[in-house]
Amino acid sequence: MKTTNVLVIGAGASGLMAAHKLTQAGKSVTVLEARNRTGGRIHTIYNELFFQQAELGAEFVHGNLPVTLQLLDEAGLKYQPAGFEMWQYDNGRFTQNEEMIEGWDELLDKLSSLQQDIPLSEFLDTYFSDERYAPLRKSAIRFVSGYDTANPDLAGAKALGNEWQHEEDDQYRVARGYCRMIKYLADTCKAAGNSIVLGSVVKHVRWEKGRVSVATEDGKVYTAEKAIIALPLGVLKAEPGIKSAIAFTPQIPEQLAAIKKIGFGAIIKVLLEFDHAFWHDNDIAKLAGADLKNMGFLLSSEAIPTWWTQSPDASPILTGWLGGPAAFDKKDVSDEDLLHSALTSLSHIFKIPPGILKSNLIAWHIANWTADPFTLGSYAYDMVGSDKARETLYKPVDDTIYFCGEYLYEGTAMGTVEAALSSGKDVAGRICSILP
Ligand SMILES: Cc1cc2nc3c(=O)[nH]c(=O)nc-3n(C[C@H](O)[C@H](O)[C@H](O)COP(=O)(O)OP(=O)(O)OC[C@H]3O[C@@H](n4cnc5c(N)ncnc54)[C@H](O)[C@@H]3O)c2cc1C
Repeated sequence: MKTTNVLVIGAGASGLMAAHKLTQAGKSVTVLEARNRTGGRIHTIYNELFFQQAELGAEFVHGNLPVTLQLLDEAGLKYQPAGFEMWQYDNGRFTQNEEMIEGWDELLDKLSSLQQDIPLSEFLDTYFSDERYAPLRKSAIRFVSGYDTANPDLAGAKALGNEWQHEEDDQYRVARGYCRMIKYLADTCKAAGNSIVLGSVVKHVRWEKGRVSVATEDGKVYTAEKAIIALPLGVLKAEPGIKSAIAFTPQIPEQLAAIKKIGFGAIIKVLLEFDHAFWHDNDIAKLAGADLKNMGFLLSSEAIPTWWTQSPDASPILTGWLGGPAAFDKKDVSDEDLLHSALTSLSHIFKIPPGILKSNLIAWHIANWTADPFTLGSYAYDMVGSDKARETLYKPVDDTIYFCGEYLYEGTAMGTVEAALSSGKDVAGRICSILP
């Protein structure tokens, strides 16, 4: 049994950032991680199958986000702008998405003047039910399910309004993979003599004021003065019996009730590498009526509706994205059937038979995070009342148990790596201010 100042449960961006900051402040830290790798929802694969590099989880820095960019600078890592020609395929036509959707400003105005928070679907039915708003309703629902990966019947309209008011145009990718940032955090902890124990599935947290004892599935016990619970909401919401679920003794019912009041979305990400970037071909330009060489994103109404390229890199990788309730419904579908769905979607869009697309595939990977026992979803979104729930979770339990993660963040980049890093930095700061 090893005693440290602080135990961190979960080696994702939030847990490792907390460990990194505690390490820099000279505290002893042990990080317990269930998987045999660090990074959690950041997972770059290199040279696996034939992919040179692909992001199975987080891929973009969504804007000029201070904590992420500062950390990348500190780590000496480069990042580059992601190309963003936005296209849409609907009713057999390709159009470039340059213009705002009609009524979008009106929708933002209404959202910002909303007194009482209500779910987005109810908001649209109440204020935008007229037939002329049908395309606006479709776009808003598509955005909430696709980008926020949320259920529009549960997602709070106020928080979405806040997010949409602050959308950033600049997007970046971390050169040579997001995992390099994770590696930097892990390396600084280990270089100072702190440990990150992989393959440690935490099952039980026993605590009293000033002392925590954590038991893992393989029968080990770790003790510390404080614990940081840096786990995804999907895991915190999991019923006993699920592999990643954790029990607390004494129980913490107020915190567990708060966890249920924050939404956690669903996502399936599909990575396809073709023998060449076929969307650059002349016959596709003829079909689309325009050159798609600089296409960044392609939105559609297909079963796998959202696609993106690695633009500005001329890579032959296409990424498919299914978020929200549709991803939740498909979480138990086999990878082969999801691949079939992906190729059928592309076949409808590009008028290439699925068999030909399949024979041109070099590698594919389905990242079904909703089925993954150590994530059980995508990322957090606000439901009505989530702000109060966050206040509850922000307060440490008896100055001993601290929650931390992408869901525990008050800015406009909720659910992102920025949110996770900010939460980790914040919790470490609070602990350092009271630990001797
Ligand atoms: C497909 C996908 C795409 C995304 N794209 C982007 C993007 O482009 N840009 C962006 O900013 N954000 C993106 N995100 C969100 C971003 O990845 C997350 O917000 C962030 O990485 C979460 O970090 P975290 O530390 O809060 O949680 P996690 O990264 O989930 O870390 C939690 C850790 O806890 C571990 N764990 C779980 N159960 C146990 C247990 N019982 N015992 C011990 N350890 C356990 C997990 O294995 C994991 O390592 C994406 C997420 C997904 C799923």
